[in-house]
Amino acid sequence: MTVELSIIPCLSDNYAYLLHDTVSATTTLIDVPEAKPVLDALQAAQYSLDTILLTHHHDDHIAGVAEVVAATGAKVIGAAADRHRLPPLDQAVTPALSFTLGAAEIEVEVIDVPGHTVGHVAYYLPAQGLLFTGDSLMAWGCGRLFEGTPEQMFDSLSRLAALPDEVLVCSGHEYTLSNGRFALSLEPENADLLARMADTQDSRDNGDPTVPSSLGLEKATNPFLRSTSAELRKTLGLDASATNLAVFAAARAAKDRF
Ligand code: ZN
Ligand code: FE
Repeated sequence: MTVELSIIPCLSDNYAYLLHDTVSATTTLIDVPEAKPVLDALQAAQYSLDTILLTHHHDDHIAGVAEVVAATGAKVIGAAADRHRLPPLDQAVTPALSFTLGAAEIEVEVIDVPGHTVGHVAYYLPAQGLLFTGDSLMAWGCGRLFEGTPEQMFDSLSRLAALPDEVLVCSGHEYTLSNGRFALSLEPENADLLARMADTQDSRDNGDPTVPSSLGLEKATNPFLRSTSAELRKTLGLDASATNLAVFAAARAAKDRF
């Protein structure tokens, strides 16, 4: 792979991501929770930043944009639908569209993932097998429904789950331990969940991020991608006749109370 991915911890539990293409020396940043850790990482790696991709309008994903743009001159890309509440965009993208990252010729597909916010998008790099999900699909969980409906989030997650298992899910927060505790509360005996909890605990004990995770692991362990699980349905008080959407909505509501 000619692309190097680095994870930049920001604020108390956010992540920004840097993608560096070694062939074209092009660098892309995904989300900007704050400027300083990003500028420090760019300087340490001697990268010059070309492009910023924004997943959604929340402050903990965009607060550092102005300062990073002022320092680097990077071009900002975000969803056209949220143009009115994102920082000034140099390129507004619409879902289902593809674009390339400057000189890098890396193809990026924009995937519509409303639910957490209505204009939320994910960025998928098919050739690199990387998926930047912000607060839609998260490691072992999904974002809270601040603006969208359960149906919108269910459809968003279904679109992401259709991608290959090997895809690496780069999500916006370190919430994995608490997400895992919730998942285990629904399916306490599930061996896949217990194994993931052991790994998650190890990573956190070592101070390592639990991101990215593979989409295959998410499909096997994430309660919000497991609406067909009989065990999960039982805990939620739903039987085989419940729709997958109803199971998802019940799981999301249970997480809000957890
Ligand atoms: Zn958010
Ligand atoms: Fe967030």
